[in-house]
Amino acid sequence: MCGIVGIIGASAGAATTEAAREALLALTTLQHRGQDAAGILTLNNEGLHRVRNNGLVESVFNRENIESLKGAIALGHTRYATAGRGDITEVQPLILNYPFGIGMVHNGNIVNAEVLAQELKTQHRRQLLTHSDTEVLLNIFAQKLSSFQTDHLSFEQLCEAVQDLQKRAIGSYSIAAVIGDHGLLAFRDPHGIRPLVWGKRDGAHMVASESVAVEFNGYEVVRNLEPGELLYVDLEGKVHTKVLEKRTPRPCMFEWIYFASPESTIDNVPVYGSRIGLGKSLAQVIQKRMKEQGLEADVVVPVPETARIAAIALSEELGVPYRELLIKNRYIKRTFILDTQDKRQKAVNLKLSPVKSEIKGKRVILVDDSIVRGTTSKKIIDLVRKAGATQVYFVSTCPPIRSSCYYGIDFPNPHELIANDRSEKEIEQELGADAVIYQSIEGLRQALIEAGKQSPQFQPCMACLDGHYPTDIGDAKKMQAARVKDRAIVEGQAR
Ligand code: SF4
Repeated sequence: MCGIVGIIGASAGAATTEAAREALLALTTLQHRGQDAAGILTLNNEGLHRVRNNGLVESVFNRENIESLKGAIALGHTRYATAGRGDITEVQPLILNYPFGIGMVHNGNIVNAEVLAQELKTQHRRQLLTHSDTEVLLNIFAQKLSSFQTDHLSFEQLCEAVQDLQKRAIGSYSIAAVIGDHGLLAFRDPHGIRPLVWGKRDGAHMVASESVAVEFNGYEVVRNLEPGELLYVDLEGKVHTKVLEKRTPRPCMFEWIYFASPESTIDNVPVYGSRIGLGKSLAQVIQKRMKEQGLEADVVVPVPETARIAAIALSEELGVPYRELLIKNRYIKRTFILDTQDKRQKAVNLKLSPVKSEIKGKRVILVDDSIVRGTTSKKIIDLVRKAGATQVYFVSTCPPIRSSCYYGIDFPNPHELIANDRSEKEIEQELGADAVIYQSIEGLRQALIEAGKQSPQFQPCMACLDGHYPTDIGDAKKMQAARVKDRAIVEGQAR
């Protein structure tokens, strides 16, 4: 998962850095979507200008390098690495000099990237320089544009190029791109798995992963881009839109559960309202279970940060007091986003401190947004027990995550998922909790439908919960099997 932004028309002239500064602000509001790297690219009549590096937004940009980002068109990216090797050459925005000079930022994951990369090599003699799936998309797009043999691309030609990409690339992608001498483009995959919102302010336009980035910069949200839709704003400020390849909308449920900022609205479903709904529906499951098993609780405690909103609603619904008794050290990164087990373990050791005076002797309902590998949950349960809790019930606003995500969330190997092949009883034992209680899949769906006043047919992607993937995942499964085999060989050699 990443955060992207595209801006056109924010500057009064090509020599100003206003677009870059707005992109910087937008990336700051999207920092929670990726902490590995960040980059901004601008375009003016002198060409493309880019600053990118590994690290947080605030560490990548400074007064001096922002000054180099001149132009009225900008792209920004904050990276959460799920594909590629994570070195600097893969940090977005990526650029290609031919044709016209193209810059691209991408949020999502391309399932058949390796197959497409091979096609680019054998059929078009294009040598890719990274292991990034974004570079694959960029080259496919550039290949099609160059086939038009023209000095000026029409909207119809841009549609043709995007449609060609949509037909060939399988997976999730929300993309913003700039083309020299042309303007800004943005488009989504045909299922709209990853979000993309469009905002407007006077003559300027912004697209971004979340509405928080748009509104923070003083733009008004126009609407979300439709699944499969292309938006093109040319250098004269003329807006062109067309839905090119639309299938059943399947936005990722994990945006509302965990990823998105609470003040954002994703695909017309407010994140805050959905988390309130998640808390209420989970409370019903808990009530039933407590009745069946004669469980009682004294206090509802959220695992900071994401679970707070749901925990408030849950406490109101259960009539059990809400207390924030796990204090977070705000200077440590979100553990789930870190890329190795070792880093996660170290971070969790340092991240939370329990308020012992309030926990001692209490029966505690611990509320978290989800249980992925269980690493964090186990540690927190232990922390609360050591602080003197007599009972610990661990409840999750997300139903059990049992399958891989091939669309950009970092739980690729099913064997690393605690719920993959365990019953709830076994999960309780593994985590050391007195009870583990999950949201139901229908409860999750209803919470989203009610928060966004969606039609009863609303079917977000829940493939990691129910195994119903919106796209073909054959290539991704083959890749995963090859990686597991490679890893086994390496481990075998090491022994
Ligand atoms: Fe989101 Fe799960 Fe679908 Fe991945 S598989 S896009 S995490 S709902």
